[in-house]
Amino acid sequence: MRFRLPFTFNLRQLILLLAMPAAAAILFSGLYISYQVQKERVIEDTLQSNHVFASKLASATEHFLAAAMQQLEFSASIIAEDITNTELLQAETNRLLEQTQSFNSVAINMQGVVKAASPVSLNIINKTVNSVHSKQALKSQQPQVSLPYISLANNLIIVVSYPLFDLAGNYYGYIGGSFYLEQQSILNALLKQHSYDGGAYFYVVADNKTLLYHPDSKRIGEQVSNNPVIERVLQGERGYTRILNGQGTAMLAGFAPVKLANWGIVAQRSEATTLAKLDTFQGQVLKRMLPIVLITFLLIAMLAHYIAKPLRLLADSANLSTDKKNVEHLKGIKSWYFESQQLKHAMLEGVHTLQSQMGQLRQDALTDPLTGAHNRRGLNILLENLMDKQIPFAVLEIDIDFFKRVNDTFGHDTGDEVLKNLTHIIQSLSRKHDIVARTGGEEFLLVLPNENSDSAFVIAERLRNQVATTLMAKVGYINVSIGIATWPQHSDDINQVYKCADKALYHAKETGRNKSVIAS
Ligand code: GH3
Ligand code: MG
Ligand code: MG
Repeated sequence: MRFRLPFTFNLRQLILLLAMPAAAAILFSGLYISYQVQKERVIEDTLQSNHVFASKLASATEHFLAAAMQQLEFSASIIAEDITNTELLQAETNRLLEQTQSFNSVAINMQGVVKAASPVSLNIINKTVNSVHSKQALKSQQPQVSLPYISLANNLIIVVSYPLFDLAGNYYGYIGGSFYLEQQSILNALLKQHSYDGGAYFYVVADNKTLLYHPDSKRIGEQVSNNPVIERVLQGERGYTRILNGQGTAMLAGFAPVKLANWGIVAQRSEATTLAKLDTFQGQVLKRMLPIVLITFLLIAMLAHYIAKPLRLLADSANLSTDKKNVEHLKGIKSWYFESQQLKHAMLEGVHTLQSQMGQLRQDALTDPLTGAHNRRGLNILLENLMDKQIPFAVLEIDIDFFKRVNDTFGHDTGDEVLKNLTHIIQSLSRKHDIVARTGGEEFLLVLPNENSDSAFVIAERLRNQVATTLMAKVGYINVSIGIATWPQHSDDINQVYKCADKALYHAKETGRNKSVIAS
């Protein structure tokens, strides 16, 4: 069994069904693609700007550490002049702290013991230092930047240190300047000054993955593991990447190393915040597109209407009814494109053929095939019309005299010729509105509208004379007898009128033939 819809679409609906989703699909896929392209652009831009930011900040930090190192180097050169003078050591630590304003504290460490420290309030002079950093610094005898650690004075610090030698080149220890990570320090101030806008932030990690700086100050000192970006930046790589942070949020990160201290700086922004702007932007695009979309839909609807209209109108006329209203309707349809034009022409042609065929059929049904005069049915229709319009008329019943003899003498075919001839004579004498009908074998009716008995009699006599004086081929001359009756004078019942005419005709026959008689 074939599936059938419980309703039928019309052409307009079908066009709409096709065009609307197509237009919508194009519009929205365009919107979607532009969103995707912009999204890629924005992500790429953000990644790159994070990378640029991390690089700049890394180089600023590098310079800062180098400057701090230079200050320590300068102090070391002064101390070298008189390295055993503890007063000089203390004076130099004081000068470095006060004058440069770079460090949170300055201390001199010789063989693991603090020889001088500033500010003095730290209370660490002559104390033994056991930190990993101090051991390393003493061992390496090189300038270095420490990892973050908890100092003797219980601060989370990093220390930049420079080795101390006397003028003879003997190693004594180092001078170190510290930066407090959790409190106000010039390093923090430097980093804070690069605060980052719009949901973006950065952090700094030391060689051991400890956070040196983070906008969330509670996290400073925390060790971060399993972060691929930190791994990469601490290996000295620079670049950008999309990663998931500890909370599973997608982040767009740019990173660059601070080579001098083997630190890493990571600038990042969450993907969601980055794209949020794009969403509002997309909303605006949609808003501005809406009128265009509506106009497009309206145009499609109008077009569907205009395309479907001629076909719908043609369909309305498709019953090929030949009535005038339908034909006029068909002719009036504006078929503005090829298919509808062809259909319209074909339908009009069909209607015309049908009209002429039906006209022929109607004609055949109402006329006598031998003479072409109206037959009884045709006559009746015309008489009905006259009677409907109350037009009075006279009926002439015409019968050939002794016609049987014509047939008997000359044959039936010749008889037929006589009948045709007679018809011709009757028609030639009748006027436009007169009705000529053959109502029986050799009987004719001539109906004369608007004639009374007397005027009809005059016409009947003229006809009778015309017949009597017309030479018929082979046959010679024939005569007719005519009975005359009038409607509604004789009767307003047409059958009675016929009967009256019959009687008059009978009377004419009885009284010698070849004469006209008015019914009494
Ligand atoms: P009357 O003067 O009394 O009318 O005599 P009539 O011979 O004309 O009358 P009747 O009614 O006796 O004969 C009519 C004849 O008409 C009979 C028939 O042969 C002839 N006839 C009838 N129809 C046709 C026809 O279609 N063709 C021919 N050729 N003859 C016909
Ligand atoms: Mg007869
Ligand atoms: Mg006769």
